[in-house]
Amino acid sequence: MVPTKALGIDIGGTSTKLGLVNKTGELLRFTSFPSRAQEDFKFFLEDLKSVTEDFLNEDKVIGVGIGAPDASPLDGTMSRPANFKWGEKVHLVDGISKVLNQKAFLTNDANAAALGEWYFGAAKGMTDFVVITLGTGVGSGFISNGRLLWGKRGMAGEFGHIVTKPNGRDCSCGHRGCLEMYASARGIRQTVLEFLAESEAPSSLRGYDLKNMSVRKIEKAARAGDLFALKTFEKTGHILGSKLADLIALFDLEAVILSGGVSRAGQLLLKPTLESMEAWTFPAFRGNTKLLLSEMENANAAVLGAAALVFNELE
Ligand SMILES: [Zn+2]
Repeated sequence: MVPTKALGIDIGGTSTKLGLVNKTGELLRFTSFPSRAQEDFKFFLEDLKSVTEDFLNEDKVIGVGIGAPDASPLDGTMSRPANFKWGEKVHLVDGISKVLNQKAFLTNDANAAALGEWYFGAAKGMTDFVVITLGTGVGSGFISNGRLLWGKRGMAGEFGHIVTKPNGRDCSCGHRGCLEMYASARGIRQTVLEFLAESEAPSSLRGYDLKNMSVRKIEKAARAGDLFALKTFEKTGHILGSKLADLIALFDLEAVILSGGVSRAGQLLLKPTLESMEAWTFPAFRGNTKLLLSEMENANAAVLGAAALVFNELE
């Protein structure tokens, strides 16, 4: 018997990545093409059709999973996607299932990350965990009681926009003090700049502003012992860990898995996060939740996660 395969598509503002994935998480074929997000949606569909033609000629492709920003999984659309000129409501599932003649399923990137981790990564065999995506934004995808948690409108898991500091930093959502403003790449950059402004002590991180500072620079400085950089990871971890403790109290989690670009800081972030998570966890739950790093290769995680969505929906 030929094992089943799914096509995973990760639609980004610049490029679209896609790959054919089997149930053990092998990426059998992979390609990418420009999304043409500033042009008409029909050009995207035409390009997608021609790029995937010989992928879909293979045996046993059972469906197409789509990961996209601003996704509304229940009606299969992207709603007012910030970096796309494809319209207010883009009918992704309709459009893609028609041009590819395949069943198609849609989710946001955080749910795709959770499914990828569940099928192929650090959460294999678990029934209750959360994947936190730490990148430009902060998101989360929950598996609870062995099922992906969708919520009423398919939008559950906006972890980045829970209030962390009432009246804190302005958030792009219009509120103040959201977690995203502290634990995203941007939040971390802002934290280090605030620490630098409070003191005149020398640091290799002086001379940068919010635009040209980067988490990688802060990480490098921290590894070289820079106190401002170390304090930044500590503060970030303390804030993040306390909010993870809230999630543990609500969902009785087996594991919390950190993924996304910021998580590549590894132990620098993991250690203070774990300390704070343990300290704030409801005492009856303490010591029962692992804090792990993603086991997905960053470059392919979104494609693998989108493919896992197909297995999750059809099998
Ligand atoms: Zn917000």
